[in-house]
Amino acid sequence: MYDVCIIGGGAAGMVCAVTAASRGKSVVIIEKNQALGKKICATGNGRCNISNSNCENAAKVLAFFNSLGLVTKTENEGRIYPASNQAADVVFLLEKRLNALGVQVMCGCAADWAAKKKNGFEVSCASRQIRCRSLVLAAGGKAAPQFGTTGDGYSLALSLGHSISKPIPVLTAIETVEDISHLKGVRVAAECSLTRKGETVFRETGEVQFTDYGLSGICIFNMSRHLLLSEDIEFTDYKVRLDFGEPFFQRRARSDFLKMLKDRSGMPGFRNKDLLRSIVPQALAKDIVIRAGMDPVQIQTGNMTDIMNSFCNWTVTVKGAKGWKMAQCTKGGVVLDEIDMETMESKMCSGLYLAGELIDYDGPCGGYNLQNAWETGLRAGENV
Ligand SMILES: Cc1cc2nc3c(=O)[nH]c(=O)nc-3n(C[C@H](O)[C@H](O)[C@H](O)COP(=O)(O)OP(=O)(O)OC[C@H]3O[C@@H](n4cnc5c(N)ncnc54)[C@H](O)[C@@H]3O)c2cc1C
Repeated sequence: MYDVCIIGGGAAGMVCAVTAASRGKSVVIIEKNQALGKKICATGNGRCNISNSNCENAAKVLAFFNSLGLVTKTENEGRIYPASNQAADVVFLLEKRLNALGVQVMCGCAADWAAKKKNGFEVSCASRQIRCRSLVLAAGGKAAPQFGTTGDGYSLALSLGHSISKPIPVLTAIETVEDISHLKGVRVAAECSLTRKGETVFRETGEVQFTDYGLSGICIFNMSRHLLLSEDIEFTDYKVRLDFGEPFFQRRARSDFLKMLKDRSGMPGFRNKDLLRSIVPQALAKDIVIRAGMDPVQIQTGNMTDIMNSFCNWTVTVKGAKGWKMAQCTKGGVVLDEIDMETMESKMCSGLYLAGELIDYDGPCGGYNLQNAWETGLRAGENV
C-alpha cells in the first residue's frame, strides 16, 4: 500500500512525485514509456522552454527547479530555459531527486483501470494491482501521442466520476484551402490575424513559415487555439490575414513605402515581380503582385496602391488544422469546476488528484503549458 500512486511520469507526474516524497510520502510512478519525461526531452526544440516570467507563479516553479540544482536563463518575451539549453538536463535532475527520495518508478507499464476502494484506490497495470491511499492522474492529454499521450487519462478520469470537455489538438499548423505550396520554405515576419465570419478573433505579430499544405510558425500555432468549431461554424468560416507591412512599417511610414514602390516602378529593367525584391522573399513578392491583379513579368504596369493593399492584406481560407501528431497541446480535458484548483483534489472523488495537460487548460507557446504542468503537479504533491 503506497501513500501515493501517480499515473504518468511526465512533467506534472515527476514534479508531483518529488514534492510528495519530500513530505515523507511513499510514492510510486506508473509510466507507459520505457523512460520518464520523454516528452519533456522534445520540448522547446530540445531546449525545454520551462516557464515564462509573465506567468503569475513562475517564481514558485523556478524555486522548485533551483532546489534540484537547475540553473536557468530568461530570453525574449520572458521565455525561461535551462542555461545549458538542454531539455535532458531537466529530466536528469528530476530523476536524480526521485531516486534520492526513494520514489519507486515502474516504466513500460500502462495503467488500464483505476477504482475507488474503501481505504483508497486500486490501480491495474500490466496485470499487476497497485494499492494506494491517494491517486494522482497525470497522464497528459492527446497531443503528440508518439510520446505516450494517447488520452488514457480521460477514460480513467471518466471512470472515477469526472466529465471531459472535448479534447482538440492545438498549437499546431494550419492547412489552407488555397494551394500555396509554391511558397514552401518562405519565412517572413507578419501581423497574423484570424477572422471568423468577418470578425477578428486573434491577432499576433511574428514569423510565419509557409509549408506545402499551409502555414506554420509560433504565431500560427497560437492562432490554432482559436479555431473553434460548432454546429454553425466550420473551418472555412475562418480566414487568415497576413499583413507583411505591419512589422516593416515599424521603421517607415506607409506613405514612404508607397513612394518607394512608385520610384521602383520607374527603375531600369524592373518588372512587377521586382517591385518587392529585397523587401520579402522573391517567391512571396511574385505571389503578392499576382494577387494585386498584375502580370509579374510585365514592366511598370498597374497601380502601386494595389500592390500595397495586397502586401498588407494577404488572405487565405482555413481548410483545417494539423492533427494530434503535430499538435503540441490539447485544448479541453477534465472540467475545471470539478477540481479544487488550490489542492488539485477532485470534487467528484476524494483522494483523487488531477494535474497537467489532462485538465481543461491550454496556454500559448512560450513556456505556459509546462508551467501549468509543473505548477499543478506541485500543488497536487503538496496536498496528497
Ligand atoms: C514537441 C513539443 C514541444 C513542446 N514544447 C513546449 C515548450 O517548450 N514549453 C511548454 O511550456 N510546453 C511545451 N510543450 C507542451 C508540454 O510538453 C506539455 O503541455 C506538458 O508536457 C504536459 O505535461 P503532463 O505531465 O501533463 O503530460 P506529459 O508530459 O505528456 O506526460 C504524461 C505522461 O503520462 C504517460 N501516460 C499516458 N497514459 C498512461 C497510462 N495509461 N499509464 C501510464 N502512463 C501513461 C505518458 O507516457 C507521458 O509520459 C511541447 C509539446 C510538444 C509535443
